[in-house]
Amino acid sequence: MGLRPRQKLKTHHESALRRVTPEGGKRNILILNNNQHHIPHYMKALLLAAAFLSSLCWAGTNPYNIIPEPVKVTTASGTTKNLKILNEQKVSGLGNEGYSMKLTPGGVELRYTTPNGKAMAMATLFQLQDQLADSPEGLPCGSIQDAPDFGWRGMMVDVGRYHYPMKELYNFVDAMHYYKYNVLHLHLTEDQGWRLPVPGYDKLRTIGSVRPSAPEGQNNSLLANEGMYSKKELQDLVAYCKARGIQVLPEVEMPGHNMALAASYPEFCCNTKRAQLWTHGGVSSKLICPQKAGTKKFLKDTYDTLQQIFSFGYVHIGGDECPMGDWKKCADCQAARAKKGQGDDVEAQMSDFTKSLGAMLAKNKKKPILWYDINKSYYHKGETVMSWLPGEFPRCIDKTKEQGIDLIVTPQYKYYLARTQMKFPADDVRARPGGGPILLKDCYNFDPRNGRDKNDVKHIKGINLCMWAEWIPSGELLMYMTYPRAMAVSESAWGSHKERPSLEDFEKKMETHKKRFQKRFGYTLERTVENKPYRESSITQEEIDRINANYKKGQQDAGK
Ligand SMILES: [Zn+2]
Repeated sequence: MGLRPRQKLKTHHESALRRVTPEGGKRNILILNNNQHHIPHYMKALLLAAAFLSSLCWAGTNPYNIIPEPVKVTTASGTTKNLKILNEQKVSGLGNEGYSMKLTPGGVELRYTTPNGKAMAMATLFQLQDQLADSPEGLPCGSIQDAPDFGWRGMMVDVGRYHYPMKELYNFVDAMHYYKYNVLHLHLTEDQGWRLPVPGYDKLRTIGSVRPSAPEGQNNSLLANEGMYSKKELQDLVAYCKARGIQVLPEVEMPGHNMALAASYPEFCCNTKRAQLWTHGGVSSKLICPQKAGTKKFLKDTYDTLQQIFSFGYVHIGGDECPMGDWKKCADCQAARAKKGQGDDVEAQMSDFTKSLGAMLAKNKKKPILWYDINKSYYHKGETVMSWLPGEFPRCIDKTKEQGIDLIVTPQYKYYLARTQMKFPADDVRARPGGGPILLKDCYNFDPRNGRDKNDVKHIKGINLCMWAEWIPSGELLMYMTYPRAMAVSESAWGSHKERPSLEDFEKKMETHKKRFQKRFGYTLERTVENKPYRESSITQEEIDRINANYKKGQQDAGK
């Protein structure tokens, strides 16, 4: 799975709860500290003017400038300059992520049913805290009652194609939490890199995680990159996310998109000839062979590793874009099919394979998620799929319902945020990947239920944004591509699509978030053709040389 232009395809933290950024700034510290908002005298006149301007900007009736809009807001008399938590209480009936909040002159009273509800309340409090910093006159007293419409609001980060440093992932998670996303989907394996450490398989690190520079003149090339996450790093990330109401969904793609694995362990493939990890995008034809003894053991060891790191009840097993030629030709695959009377029906073999992966996960009390190709026959009742094929989205709703499959909506021309967010001059390299931009309004106006009644499409669990990394090789570019569009999607996936604010009101609200975003996350929300970072500027020649040297070392290990 990945992004393909013009084709149908497609800190260091001190603890899980507290973190200080390397720059020493404060970020999303879960325990609010009111002193942060002490405002020097000389700033007050300036801030009053700014507050007046921002009140002109936001035309909604809700005085709290929150994205996504809370379900219900009531205001009371008086104002508050104090957002300290006065008291909090677990109560029943507010749902998995619901909360209520009362703002009084003396502070804030919180109610929630689960820790996830508290995490969502904290995201609202952070936003109110930022609004208060711009409002020296204080915020109106009042109350907020809130709960999401969709239980799944995910973001996929393509760490397979680009190994983002942990520091960048933490920053990304902070922003996810601020805008109430609740699933971080890590696409851990790809043709261009393998990032999951599986004990006993060291070549995944020395070979599978090192991508050299592409040969000169190669089309669709990626930049050099290397890196493998450690078990401890991933466990810490999972804990950090959990404290923010975010689950981490790991993805180990099978049987296609596996050139990094094939380069490390060719014996797991149908065709055991040694392959090279890819330095370019596309869909590879080399497939992992489910019939090899080594593969069976490797899959078990991989799933055991996932079990030790990830606590979420789902694992993404991939399952898309695997041209079946290798399975057709492979003697081991042929023998397995013959035993079952399947002849050359490779889709039946694929159905058996994904079913066996699901059974392995079930032993660990986990369920599989797959990419969904509406034209394929290998899905099973009870599975969950992500629909991405362009033009197939409305049809997927009924088809998955018929099949008894849960659906997560990921349409490539609405939610593949790796695509540009504005129109570029055609000859500007920053316009890539092409295939037409996805504008903020496209994201905002897209209804994940396609106008259907909620009760009629209960199998739609929610939405997932995808930031494929062929053209996003830095944390800076990742934030640049994801926002502000993810704010628009958050608005349309949290509340009722019909009752969301007008696009104009949303954009006014967004304006007031620009300064906060810069302050909290260190990146601008301004989007112009000129300020898009060049992909190539994200790596130095020194780094390229180091990676290429490591690649050579890995190749010496390859035959051992
Ligand atoms: Zn095979």
